Amino acid sequence: MSCIFCELIASADPPRLVYEDEAVVVFPDIRPQAPTHLLVVPRRHVATIVEAAETDPELVTAMTRAVADVTRRLGVEAPGFRLVVNTGDDGGQTVGHLHMHLLAGRRMTWPPG
Ligand code: AMP
Ligand code: ZN
Repeated sequence: MSCIFCELIASADPPRLVYEDEAVVVFPDIRPQAPTHLLVVPRRHVATIVEAAETDPELVTAMTRAVADVTRRLGVEAPGFRLVVNTGDDGGQTVGHLHMHLLAGRRMTWPPG
């Protein structure tokens, strides 16, 4: 099975990592939708947040720890930010490897598109 995020993480020329630990990497989205648009991605291939919650809840915790570290470091914790986890076709998920979008640097609108 080929997975673009598995390939990126294993690549000899990986994306610039904003954060990394043994379980999680954070790197910029290639098509940014906000001044700051990062992807919080588990190193291990898991398809969705539901699969992660059921098979490896510690992985979800590790992703939130990465969010805490990065938002503090980038100074966007206080002004605020948005976390998005598109899931499945109706959710708009286009890459079948779990990721959180971390969006910041502008005022977000609601409802989402
Ligand atoms: P989603 O549509 O929620 O599954 O999000 C997938 C995201 O991955 C999109 O925002 C894409 O812009 C982003 N993306 C796809 N390929 C790459 C890549 N090679 N490097 C960084 N981000 C990517
Ligand atoms: Zn993968």
